[in-house]
Amino acid sequence: MATVYDNLVGQDHASEILRAAVAASRTGVETQEMTHAWLFTGPPGSGRSSAAVAFAQALVCGYQGCGTCNECQSAANGSHPDVEIIRTEGLSIKVEEIRELLTRVAWAPSMGGWRVVVMEDADRLTESAANAMLKAIEEPGTRTVWLLCAPTLHDVLPTIRSRCRHIQLHTPSDEAVTQVLINRDGVTPAMAHFAARVSQGHIGRAKYLAFNEGARSNRTTIMNLPLQLNSLAAAFKAAQTLVDLATSAANAASEVRDEKEIASLQEAYGKGATGRGMATGAAKAVKELEKEQKSRATRMVRDSIDGALLDIATFYRDVMMVQAGSSDAIINTDMVDAINAYAAKHPHHSTVSKISAIMEARTNLAHNAAPLLTCEALMCRLAKA
Ligand SMILES: [Zn+2]
Repeated sequence: MATVYDNLVGQDHASEILRAAVAASRTGVETQEMTHAWLFTGPPGSGRSSAAVAFAQALVCGYQGCGTCNECQSAANGSHPDVEIIRTEGLSIKVEEIRELLTRVAWAPSMGGWRVVVMEDADRLTESAANAMLKAIEEPGTRTVWLLCAPTLHDVLPTIRSRCRHIQLHTPSDEAVTQVLINRDGVTPAMAHFAARVSQGHIGRAKYLAFNEGARSNRTTIMNLPLQLNSLAAAFKAAQTLVDLATSAANAASEVRDEKEIASLQEAYGKGATGRGMATGAAKAVKELEKEQKSRATRMVRDSIDGALLDIATFYRDVMMVQAGSSDAIINTDMVDAINAYAAKHPHHSTVSKISAIMEARTNLAHNAAPLLTCEALMCRLAKA
């Protein structure tokens, strides 16, 4: 029978802990298994937020996480009165947002069980926001359960970390991702194998690639960039191509969402309302929303460039594998000839330094370096023999 734990791909250990916690939570008293602060960590794509949401579902479900009842479904889509899913759109979560959240969750759970807050990007809490939240976590006898997600333990303040039970997620194997794509999403086996392999255990990305031809063709363009770096002019051109592709992919995704949000906001204020106060209120809210959307768009472009750089890194990783004599371990099997040719022409040590150049560029981007400049500098380094 299907359960919410099916969404935790390749995370058997974590599932076991969470199941035990849910079973213990039925007694209504805090036990060693069931604490009210949890921290989910794991590399991108390991399904941190899926795991936290599955746990939230199981905590409010009458059947410990069936995945199909009203409670389970409304918890997952954000409409359950006792489940808050905080997805950060901006680059940080500010103290005002946490204060507002705390007043919302101060009430006892409406259904009598637990009130659950899922925070997908606890690593984006500002220090003052984290401190405000800490007070709430420390409050005894509360019926609120905090499920925080972050890439690693070091991404959250030690004071928060020490109060949370830790769930470590792992990158699922290609095989686990392939099976989910086939069984859950109905992807053909050949496509599932391809998408799982090139996404390296990132389920969301694998699914997106499997279903999106445009994304696959963008990927092909990106993966061919290393082969074109035979002059400085070509390096600059490659940087521009990368940034353009990543930007348009990110914008296409956010435009649809932006329009929907503005429409529903206007709806909420009563579109065409003639009352003066109403109109000013709506205009102000729309302006605020647009500001938020802009900051989200910036973040999505950065994430998109980062994804492209990770893809390019797999090319050099494959070259390194071939140079080390492990041709059977390559990820991009669709480019095997190009990889072999490149490996034969370039020295091993330069491959290693190219991979570190990519990782450096990613770090710089994460610290808000200008995307195009960063990519130009990187492509110039990759163009060197
Ligand atoms: Zn259920």
